[in-house]
Amino acid sequence: MSKMTIGIFGGGQLGRMMAQAALPLNIQCTFFEANTDCPSAVLGQVISSQDQDGLQQFTKSADVFSLEFENTPLADVDQLTQSKQIYPPRQALAIAQNRLLEKSLFDELDIPVAPYRAVDSLESLQQAVSDLGLPIVLKTATGGYDGKGQFVLKNETQINEAWAELGAAKSLIAESFVQFNREVSIIAVRGQDGEVRTWDLAENHHHHGILSHSIVPAPNSLHLQPIAEEYITRLLNHLDYVGVLTLELFVTEQGMFANEMAPRVHNSGHWSIEGAVCSQFENHIRAVAGLPLGSTQTIRPTVMVNIISQYPKTESVLALDSAHLHLYDKSEREGRKLGHITLTPKSKDELTAQCRALSQILPESLALNENMQIEI
Ligand code: AMP
Repeated sequence: MSKMTIGIFGGGQLGRMMAQAALPLNIQCTFFEANTDCPSAVLGQVISSQDQDGLQQFTKSADVFSLEFENTPLADVDQLTQSKQIYPPRQALAIAQNRLLEKSLFDELDIPVAPYRAVDSLESLQQAVSDLGLPIVLKTATGGYDGKGQFVLKNETQINEAWAELGAAKSLIAESFVQFNREVSIIAVRGQDGEVRTWDLAENHHHHGILSHSIVPAPNSLHLQPIAEEYITRLLNHLDYVGVLTLELFVTEQGMFANEMAPRVHNSGHWSIEGAVCSQFENHIRAVAGLPLGSTQTIRPTVMVNIISQYPKTESVLALDSAHLHLYDKSEREGRKLGHITLTPKSKDELTAQCRALSQILPESLALNENMQIEI
């Protein structure tokens, strides 16, 4: 059997973990990335996106293509797809890159969203405030991530300030502020034959706008699981999607509201490497390669904790009985995701003890809560 190669736009930690999952299947990966010394570099050839003929070389380097970077330029995808196939499809990428297109697709598919308005001028922002009421979250339609490019407007005196901060983006979205109890995400994979499989909901906790930790299965969420599965399946089928898709949801007293989708493997799915029969990375590779999908069933309750800004001592993490450490080979920088730790404790007591230990070991305060709820 000849060896298959998958070309991946981007070469960060998501590409690295995709390539790690591809290796046992004897599938090779190549990467298209500006920084050739990226986290994926140890696992496959990195073709520089800075080189003039880089895209041409990248196109030749693999049989089929995917991405780990959701802001992959559509122009590059268009050039590539003249001769090669990419999964997920271009349309999914184009929609996920624009919050307005994304929200209108959710509307079209009857996936509840917070009321929103398109904003492209100071006047339209004033109109949005009068239509939606306050507070609202003003976001750039394109280019934002991890809470960047956002402004929470609490009173009318902030309208000019918000416009001064974000108005240059020209295309913005104003959303009603959702009074949510919790944030969850559903991750699913769709194969080339249209088969869909979903993982258990993750409950996600953020710190300074960055994902700090995820708990899976999301506690007290059995009733939400089929609803979230229904929403993501509608998206996958509508987009004729192949690969892994993530949908982030707010849980409120009135039910769930979709926030955004990511057309790729997701930080809240890293738990699945140890916690599920088949991880999001392996199933993504399987889907892109046209192979049968694996079971997404949870093997055991799992907590995934991000390592942000500074590395802990490896020995201290590994001294915890159930801990798995994943390092991304990145240099330390404020607010940067450097790795993650997966805990698969056998009891609530063990979970409490390990979370307490981790909050001592991790230099950045992670909002880890000793009273973390988990069904074991
Ligand atoms: P996003 O970049 O859209 O994922 O937003 C980053 C974070 O901002 C989310 O995880 C929420 O915690 C918060 N957020 C975003 N949109 C809203 C909203 N409409 N209402 C309340 N909080 C929001």
